Amino acid sequence: YAAKLRNDGAVVYDSSIDKGSEQSLSLLTELRTALERDEFRLFVQPKIHFDTGKVVGAEALVRWVHPERGNVFPDEFIPFAEQTGFIRKLTRWVLEQSAALCQSLDAAGIQLKVSVNLSTRDLMDQDLPAKFRDMLERRRLSAASFCLEITESAIMDDPVRAEQTLARLHAMGVELSIDDFGTGYSSLAYLKRLPVNELKIDKSFVLNMESDAGDVMIVRSTIQLGHNLGLRVVAEGVESEAVWHQLKSMNCDQGQGYYMSRPIPADQLLLWMQQWRAPEPVSVPVPVVAS
Ligand code: C2E
Ligand code: MG
Ligand code: MG
Ligand code: MG
Repeated sequence: YAAKLRNDGAVVYDSSIDKGSEQSLSLLTELRTALERDEFRLFVQPKIHFDTGKVVGAEALVRWVHPERGNVFPDEFIPFAEQTGFIRKLTRWVLEQSAALCQSLDAAGIQLKVSVNLSTRDLMDQDLPAKFRDMLERRRLSAASFCLEITESAIMDDPVRAEQTLARLHAMGVELSIDDFGTGYSSLAYLKRLPVNELKIDKSFVLNMESDAGDVMIVRSTIQLGHNLGLRVVAEGVESEAVWHQLKSMNCDQGQGYYMSRPIPADQLLLWMQQWRAPEPVSVPVPVVAS
C-alpha cells in the first residue's frame, strides 16, 4: 500500500499512487471468497490416442464461474494466483476435484489418466507430495491415475528444488509431463535427467500446421526428440481433421484440441465419450510439407 503519514499523524491511503496493489488485494479477496462460495468449476478436455482413436486421458482445466462476470478463464487469474501463492489452495482443490472425477469414472468401469497442471509455487511446496499421497489413500486411488503437467519455465525457476519435488512425486507412481514444450527456456540436460513420461507440444506450433511448413518441421522434430528420449508425445491445439491426420502420420502419440472437444464440465465427460467417433483413416497419404 502507498500509505502516507499526514501532518496530524493519521495514515491515509493514497489510491492514486498505487491503484495496482489495491486492485490486487481485492482480486485476492475475491479468489478466496470464490473458493469458499464454490465458484470454481472443473472443466476437462479429452486426450485421444491417435492410433486407436480412444480417449486415454483428460486434462483438468479450472474455470471460475463468477456471479456477475460469468466464466472467467484461467489466463485471467492463474498468473495472479501464482504471484500471491493462492495457487497452492487452488491446486489442492483441482486435485480433489480430479480425484472425485477418477472415482466416478472408476465406478463406470472407465480407466482414464487425469492430467493436472502444477505451477512453480506447487513445485516449491515441500508438503505437496505428502498431501497428494494422503489424498490418494483417503480416496483409495492409485497414483497411476494421475499425470502432473509442469512447464519448462516452472522447472527452470529453481531446477534443484523442482527436481526434488518431481522425483518424490514420480517415486509415488504419478506420471509427469512437460507442458507447452518449446515455448519456455528449457535445458535439454534437465529434460534428460528429470523423471518425465510425457512431452506436450505447445499449441502455437500445432494450430497452423496445415499451412505453415516451419511449424510442421518443428512438430516433426519435437516428436522425434521426445521419442528418442523415450517419452510419449502429445500435441495440444488440434483444431482440424487435417491436422489430426498430419500428427497421426508423424507418429504423434496423443492429441488434444477443439477438433475433438473444447474443455467441457467434468460431469459431461462420460456423455461426451459415448458420442465420440475418431475420424476415419485417410486412404491417400496426407501431403505433409517436406522437411
Ligand atoms: P495449458 O495447460 O497449456 O492448457 C491448454 C490450453 O489450451 C487450455 O486453455 C485449452 O482450453 C486450450 N486449448 C486446447 N485445445 C485448443 C485448441 O484446439 N485451440 C485453442 N485455441 N486452444 C486450445 P485454458 O483452459 O484457457 O487454460 C490456459 C492455461 O491456464 C493452461 O494452459 C494452464 O497453463 C493454466 N491452467 C488452467 N487450469 C489450471 C489449473 O488448474 N492449475 C494451473 N496451475 N494452471 C491452470
Ligand atoms: Mg496443461
Ligand atoms: Mg499446454
Ligand atoms: Mg499452454
